[in-house]
Amino acid sequence: MENTKSPELMEKIVSLCKRRGFIFQSSEIYGGINGFWDYGPYGTALKRAVEKCWWNEMVEKRDNVDGLDSTVICHPKIWKASGHLDKFGDLMTDCRDCKARHRVDQMEDQSKCPACGSKNLTPPREFNLMMKTYVGPVSDEEHTAYLRAETCQPIFVDFHLVRVAARRKLPFGIAQVGKAFRNEINPRNFIFRSREFSQMEMEFFCFEEDSMKWYEYWKNERVRYYTEVLGFKEDEIKIHEHETLAHYAKAALDIEFKFPFGWGELEGVHHRGTWDMSRHQEFSGENLEYFDQENNRRITPTVVETSVGVDRTVLALLCHAYDEDTAATKKEGMDEDVRIVLRFPAKLAPVQVAVLPLSNKLSEPANKISTALKKYFRVEFDVTGSIGKRYRRQDEIGTPYCVTYDFKTEEDQSVTVRDRDTMAQDRVAIDKLKQYFQDKLDM
Ligand code: ATP
Repeated sequence: MENTKSPELMEKIVSLCKRRGFIFQSSEIYGGINGFWDYGPYGTALKRAVEKCWWNEMVEKRDNVDGLDSTVICHPKIWKASGHLDKFGDLMTDCRDCKARHRVDQMEDQSKCPACGSKNLTPPREFNLMMKTYVGPVSDEEHTAYLRAETCQPIFVDFHLVRVAARRKLPFGIAQVGKAFRNEINPRNFIFRSREFSQMEMEFFCFEEDSMKWYEYWKNERVRYYTEVLGFKEDEIKIHEHETLAHYAKAALDIEFKFPFGWGELEGVHHRGTWDMSRHQEFSGENLEYFDQENNRRITPTVVETSVGVDRTVLALLCHAYDEDTAATKKEGMDEDVRIVLRFPAKLAPVQVAVLPLSNKLSEPANKISTALKKYFRVEFDVTGSIGKRYRRQDEIGTPYCVTYDFKTEEDQSVTVRDRDTMAQDRVAIDKLKQYFQDKLDM
């Protein structure tokens, strides 16, 4: 069936995520906490695969990007310098009748409550999104600190430490993957907008005169990543150029994904000018200029940023992958109308190979194959239930290949490999399995 992008699809994905152990409401037994989500076994594997894939694309494959892993809590002045303490907020309004709280910029009609239609709204108020905490034994103003609202600020602050340690000259980038926290007024759309999430950001430091060339380069690289590496279809993503720009920026765009609830920002590619470095220089009192030996000049580096949410990528992958296959019903001995299948790209699937002995009696030799393959791939061994049910379970968690160990295996030292998408079966010699999957998984 066509992957219809509808609100019902969202409900189906949320329910599948819970049932199969991808994503749960945080603190569920206490009634949950709004805007926080836990990743279960398969969700964790998927999330890690996404982070690893991004890291590989943005850092490991390149000669000009270094990694950083900074703290979540940083010096509070960083957030003063970045503008987050003064300006990082949204306007919110409360409905006096139904008590719902809304972000004003997200309301179609700003005079009416989107939940109940009442016009009895409070005047719009500023609301800061930074999450506050205290460092040390005293809970007062002086000891106030903040959980980082984005992962990029520590990159600017550590720029010279990284540059010297890695012996870099401009242009080069610094990348980081990690948690960010925002006290969102209205967390919604599952993991699309939450209060604790992860970001994958890369700040590319360059000369001002080359900065638009780099901006174009990173825009193209990031679009290529979505289509070629994650396999999104051309009609699933689009570029939204910002009409209004921050005063320091020369260009900015969002890469949007077509979620079941509509188009939503997946990633921002931003030309940030010299804003961040200049602000940190001003607030820290340190000279953060870069000495350009070739041209004998001191400059403030210009920054081009690529910034994407891990959780939004996971959600986009789930939406992209979800399919209800009606053509394949009643195959594989199953009595059903529809086969639910997550068609993840094989390299990101939480389980890449499932090893399924046809009978309990074959568990021991089958498990040996599973253990051997675990050195190279994410493998699950499953012996419970009929083979048809086990295939369907693997379809629902998006496993691209199932290996069935049957009664003929002892004789011909071969197993059956079943393809999730075509449901075709290949007979493969056990000693060729590793190579077979390496070719299939493009590893
Ligand atoms: P939005 O307009 O959706 O609030 P933003 O423009 O504030 O997002 P950025 O500050 O540019 O977002 O953050 C970069 C990326 O971090 C976003 O493209 C998104 O993928 C992710 N992100 C931002 N806020 C959240 C959130 N509350 N929950 C999950 N991911 C988020």
